[in-house]
Amino acid sequence: MPYLYAMPETKLPVAFESQMLELLGKAEFEQFRKAINNTSRTSIRVNPSKTFSLSWPSTPIAWSKTGFFLEERPAFTLDPSIHAGAYYVQEASSMFIEHILHSLHIPKGIYLDLAAAPGGKSTLLSSYLGDEGMLIANEVIQPRAQILKENIIKWGLGNAVVTNNDPEHFGPLEGFFDLVLVDAPCSGEGMFRKDAQAREEWSLDNVQLCSARQKRIMDQAGALVKADGYLVYSTCTFNEQENEDMIRFLTEEFSYEPVRIPLDAGWNIRETSVDSDGKTFYGYRFFPHLVEGEGFFITVLKRSAEAYIQEPKRVKDFKHPYLKEIWNRESSVLDEELGFDGSGKYYTLNDSYFRISIDWNLHFQKISQHMSLKYFGVELGKKQKNDWIPSHEWAVSVLPKNNFPTHELSEAEAVEFLRKNDLVTDNFSTGWVLMTYKNLPLGWIKNLGNRVNNYYPKEWRIRM
Ligand code: SAM
Repeated sequence: MPYLYAMPETKLPVAFESQMLELLGKAEFEQFRKAINNTSRTSIRVNPSKTFSLSWPSTPIAWSKTGFFLEERPAFTLDPSIHAGAYYVQEASSMFIEHILHSLHIPKGIYLDLAAAPGGKSTLLSSYLGDEGMLIANEVIQPRAQILKENIIKWGLGNAVVTNNDPEHFGPLEGFFDLVLVDAPCSGEGMFRKDAQAREEWSLDNVQLCSARQKRIMDQAGALVKADGYLVYSTCTFNEQENEDMIRFLTEEFSYEPVRIPLDAGWNIRETSVDSDGKTFYGYRFFPHLVEGEGFFITVLKRSAEAYIQEPKRVKDFKHPYLKEIWNRESSVLDEELGFDGSGKYYTLNDSYFRISIDWNLHFQKISQHMSLKYFGVELGKKQKNDWIPSHEWAVSVLPKNNFPTHELSEAEAVEFLRKNDLVTDNFSTGWVLMTYKNLPLGWIKNLGNRVNNYYPKEWRIRM
């Protein structure tokens, strides 16, 4: 099996060894120890809404239709396709969520990813929802929320809202969501192979701290799921305090039903069960000596049919400190100008136009009243007199850009464009031109005749 980076072998904390010995037994613990001193495999998840054909040698990931292990780790930064949102580099175990969604036929609707940065699981949820739902991708830590926003923009589906809030702020959204995912901050035992710092920072005290923090988060999250909706809780750690104990806590606090995930025996994912509230609940552990992926734990619970459901109410006169709703007549003009089909609702924020799906407008309005918005739908750009200044966000989104000419770049030219360097090609159409690489939109240039301006966002440019 080809691996690229190996962990220097460091001693494991003694208390961690005892904990794992108890969980695995002596013989299996030795296999576990060997596995975490091996190297990790690189894997990517392809964006099904963008045109991309995988050219690296790869093997499919068993539980994901869009996930692939790569034989070698490419220089991702220098691949223009990653900047176009054609794929996301993600550890394989996390992709199991794709199997959960499909195998349980989880209804689409309004989803919340409460601890979402950098956005691996959010991009997966966004693809699952497509045109049939809206995702609220939330991250409490501001700089991490910025990275989340960037990844959501690149993924480009336009069905997500990025917020920057503490779980406590979600109080007014009780019973609002069809699915809530909490990929909790944890003690990171499952990352010991990839991340030497995770080994160094581990202690029993830290496990207790993480478990207490998870309880605080889940005490909020458990109430946000509507009747018959789903709660998905995951960690990248093995211990029971952060996993089984959280199932106990949730099922004692709220009324949830068990959900069992169908598994293929060959995947070697280990099912665990918790008896609580007179029922048996299930959790799933991914051990690195058994599965091809990092350490992971996940459980799915279904909110009881009697729980509360909060439907957003139509607001007669939508008021917001900085969002302005665009009314029907102007919307039709925008649809016409921009080549859209009338399924969008428009807002302006700081003179820039944004578009979300009209089907989720009431949900969006409710979210916008309570949360700190970082991004929503697709930012389209600004209107200057009768001219559009199209935004980069629109360029990399899946929305049509029919009114603009495109120009296909070679790989070398695409990298130059992404570095925000001047492009030497002189056969551009005049005005705004959409740069593409292998037909994937990368961003805009504006050809003024005597000069070509590169509009790739400065803060996103390739610096290597
Ligand atoms: N779901 C992400 C993904 O797949 O890319 C990874 C999430 S990471 C395991 C956990 C996240 O929880 C981090 O982004 C961290 O900043 C955030 N976090 C830290 N403390 C938190 C808290 N008290 N409440 C909610 N989220 C928190």
